[in-house]
Amino acid sequence: MQAEIVAIGSELTSGEKLDTNSQWLSLQLADMGISTLFHTTVADNIDANLQALQLAVERVDVVLVSGGLGPTQDDLTRDVLAKLASVPLELDAESLAHLEDFFHGRGREMPERNRIQAMFPQGSQPLPNPVGTAPGIWLEVPRANRTPCLVAAMPGVPSEMYKMFREQVQPRLPGSSRCIRRARLNCYGLGESATEEILGDLTARGRDPEVGITAHEATITLRIVAHGADEQECQKKIDTTLSMARERLGDHVFGVEDEKLEDVVVEMLRSNGQTLATLEWGTAGQLAGRLFHAQGRRRDSSGGNEFNPLAGGQVQSGEVEDLQQAAEAWRAQCGANYVLAIGPERVIDEQGAKSTATELLLLTDEGLQEGYDLSWNGNPAIRLTRTAKSALDLLRRFLIRTATVR
Ligand code: AMP
Ligand code: MG
Repeated sequence: MQAEIVAIGSELTSGEKLDTNSQWLSLQLADMGISTLFHTTVADNIDANLQALQLAVERVDVVLVSGGLGPTQDDLTRDVLAKLASVPLELDAESLAHLEDFFHGRGREMPERNRIQAMFPQGSQPLPNPVGTAPGIWLEVPRANRTPCLVAAMPGVPSEMYKMFREQVQPRLPGSSRCIRRARLNCYGLGESATEEILGDLTARGRDPEVGITAHEATITLRIVAHGADEQECQKKIDTTLSMARERLGDHVFGVEDEKLEDVVVEMLRSNGQTLATLEWGTAGQLAGRLFHAQGRRRDSSGGNEFNPLAGGQVQSGEVEDLQQAAEAWRAQCGANYVLAIGPERVIDEQGAKSTATELLLLTDEGLQEGYDLSWNGNPAIRLTRTAKSALDLLRRFLIRTATVR
């Protein structure tokens, strides 16, 4: 069973407001095993609305509509649905009584204009809205030689829509015999295309589970979607695909779901009982900031007063004569097991091709352990983030290597 979501509102097509309803509805449908084939966004225009809905009822079996159910001139959804089914609008006495009560409850007379919200296309069912004035509409649109298309129109106000979907629409949708489950695997140190090449057939289109690759600020995420008869079958498929991906990507994989590099680093240091000091130039304190927040998340989730590995974070500006010496002095001052240092940005001009480089160093009480020049000629907007993440990744890989040696 496939669905289309139609978001109605000129504030959406003009770009003034972001359509978040469609995103939410798609996630709900996916959990029910119904996949969404189209998102359509359409202005408050009766012809455009009718065209959009005529197309939708032809190409999918479930159409979820949000918006356009208010009492004002630009709220056209009920008229459009009546036109779509070629039926007149009729007054629903129960909905009218609810509307009048709603206003009386607030000490006001119902404005005449709101009466329109008690009008429904003949043959449709009103969907009660206990938290607002606009009731929704459930309409089954007949189609030649096919089962009717199921159409649910809900208010645009997100909180009203969520409640109506859960209480009124979801129970009316056919229970799917299929189940969909998702998983994410997070990697660092490879580009999108290199990841795809390494994964090979795992990312083939039409494979079950499907494996998609997205990149966000140099972190690569594999998005795995499995279809099955039940949750157990989906989970089994996901586990097999996860272990194949882990095997191929090796230590580029650092975590799952919402885990970030800093979460993993904090966890490894914590379980080793080791401390880290950071020293950074030109990153707006991102390295220390990320680690600090990761410690906070860890503390909140365990609810306890845990050992905090971050022994100190120093943010510098200007130049540094010798990064290694500065890092060594800072490590000794904090008494930390490790220091992770990011030097100031240097501009490199190679025959007119400008790029920048930043020195990354990892030291322990035994001196310099790792270090390299991170060069960058990509999007400046993510330079700082990528620099901080690369430093975290340097330590992460070192901790993995030394743990296996120990
Ligand atoms: P309506 O039901 O069209 O009167 O919409 C009421 C309000 O809900 C609008 O003013 C928007 O602020 C909000 N809204 C409508 N559609 C959406 C949508 N697709 N995503 C998020 N907010 C929406
Ligand atoms: Mg509207």
